[in-house]
Amino acid sequence: MSQRPPLVIAGMRVSAFAVVPAALPFRNDNLFVDGALLSAVPHLAIGIPLDVKSEVCLLYCDADWVSVACSGHSTCSEARASAERHYQGIGEHWIETATTHEQALSARDNEYDEAGLRCSRCGRRAYEVSSMFETALGTFCSDCDRESWSASGAATDTKRTL
Ligand SMILES: [Zn+2]
Repeated sequence: MSQRPPLVIAGMRVSAFAVVPAALPFRNDNLFVDGALLSAVPHLAIGIPLDVKSEVCLLYCDADWVSVACSGHSTCSEARASAERHYQGIGEHWIETATTHEQALSARDNEYDEAGLRCSRCGRRAYEVSSMFETALGTFCSDCDRESWSASGAATDTKRTL
């Protein structure tokens, strides 16, 4: 288990994180995952959206810093206040990261490249387009996909929506 989070969690820039002390009680009556109350987590992070029109997120993370639940807030301080309601005393455990928007963007791009989620034709990533498809000819975004398939008249039954 790593004490430091990756630069990006759930596609968001991590601006601060906290390793939750095991002794800190988790008070939760409003956060649910799959219909069950979320139980205590070892890690918290503040996620800043890399795209406009998204909220700041308080990310509840597992031992590997994978987000298992999140709550949306309009500011970082609101997100921290929410964390404080669930983990009283967590305030002194927050550690600020120095990750810049650009660093987070390139970290996120690397993730997408490693996963092969770039359009083979225009190079855009999954989050830049409405949808992506895997075909026998490669991975295509919905825009390029429409053009190429309508141009070739090829069958579309091998497509898999990502
Ligand atoms: Zn494309």
